[in-house]
Amino acid sequence: MTPVVAIVGGGLTGLALAHRLQADGIRFQLFEARDRLGGRILTERCHGDWFDLGPSWFWPGQPRMAAFVERFGLRVFPQFSDGAQLFETAQGDVIRDHGFASMQGSLRVHGGMRALVGALADELPDGSVLTGNPVQSVSGAAELRFLDGTCLSFDRIVMAVPPRVAAELHYIPQLPSATMAALQSIPTWMAGHAKLTAVYEAPFWREEDLSGDASSQRGPLVEIHDASSEGRGALFGFLGVPAEARAGQRDAVISASLAQLARLFGPRAGTPEAVFYTDWAEEAGTSVTADRAPLTHHPAYGRPAALQPTLSDRLYFASTELAPEMGGFLEGALAAAEDAADWVLRSLAV
Ligand SMILES: Cc1cc2nc3c(=O)[nH]c(=O)nc-3n(C[C@H](O)[C@H](O)[C@H](O)COP(=O)(O)OP(=O)(O)OC[C@H]3O[C@@H](n4cnc5c(N)ncnc54)[C@H](O)[C@@H]3O)c2cc1C
Repeated sequence: MTPVVAIVGGGLTGLALAHRLQADGIRFQLFEARDRLGGRILTERCHGDWFDLGPSWFWPGQPRMAAFVERFGLRVFPQFSDGAQLFETAQGDVIRDHGFASMQGSLRVHGGMRALVGALADELPDGSVLTGNPVQSVSGAAELRFLDGTCLSFDRIVMAVPPRVAAELHYIPQLPSATMAALQSIPTWMAGHAKLTAVYEAPFWREEDLSGDASSQRGPLVEIHDASSEGRGALFGFLGVPAEARAGQRDAVISASLAQLARLFGPRAGTPEAVFYTDWAEEAGTSVTADRAPLTHHPAYGRPAALQPTLSDRLYFASTELAPEMGGFLEGALAAAEDAADWVLRSLAV
């Protein structure tokens, strides 16, 4: 039987929407451009442990995430933050106990955030998720055309991709200019960032009563945290180098970051077992050129008037950036999925 709803995008919004439609008995097919599910959730494996290159945390007071981890039996633990913080001045002086553990009380998931993705994907019906074939164009008659030339029709389409990424696709007929302007105006949360994780045999900085938390005016890492798993030690940092300057400089960025970790945490920090580096500004499917400009604050996300659907619409935009609350966060992606599912049910009932 032909699926009724197409979900474009297999990040947390798209997967949670698929899960909800399945529970509501609505036929769907999910299409993901990348060869993997998760979108901004990316967890790399090293020696049997898992390390997040996308989101690491959720927080108390996020009811959907709390319900989710309980429903799927995921194990949660607090961000390690016992011990002293380090601060590196622009001149390279390292000061101990300057500042505070900025992520104290944040919650991590054993196995990394990929555990969320796996838990959702495992419960979806066989054949309902297709990866590695990006949608190229979308028609108002609810047709999708894919990179490989395939064209498929549905009753409804939910674009579970960041608004700016959605704006890059081809629409037939063209979207109204106000709709296109609204999509283009919404920055994709964290899309301009890059994250580096260095993995060690053990979290040796804890022996010196260091939390692994550090901030730096010198860089290239500006905010560093303990990212250890149950088995291995790890430190991760956000790059403070602008996206334009990072482009094509992967090796130089990694080597400067390791030199900085050695300055802060001692020579052992300069020789990790493994290094993972993801520059999200270079990731098609997440970032567009406009996202290279760093955000100075968390935008006031939500659904602008130009993206409110009419009853005759067969196309709906959804992603954490359009969530009714907690936009930008994982919690927002779950809220966006609920919102999109409500739209699907309402619009199919018309
Ligand atoms: C470095 C980093 C750190 C973060 N830290 C945190 C954190 O600690 N806590 C937190 O709550 N949030 C954090 N976030 C934000 C969090 O990752 C997002 O809120 C969430 O993952 C967004 O999910 P989404 O499904 O809405 O969008 P996405 O994850 O972006 O999913 C969109 C999907 O659509 C796919 N797609 C795009 N174009 C097409 C196409 N043409 N055809 C088919 N598929 C397409 C993409 O490949 C992607 O899989 C972080 C993000 C980053 C990048």
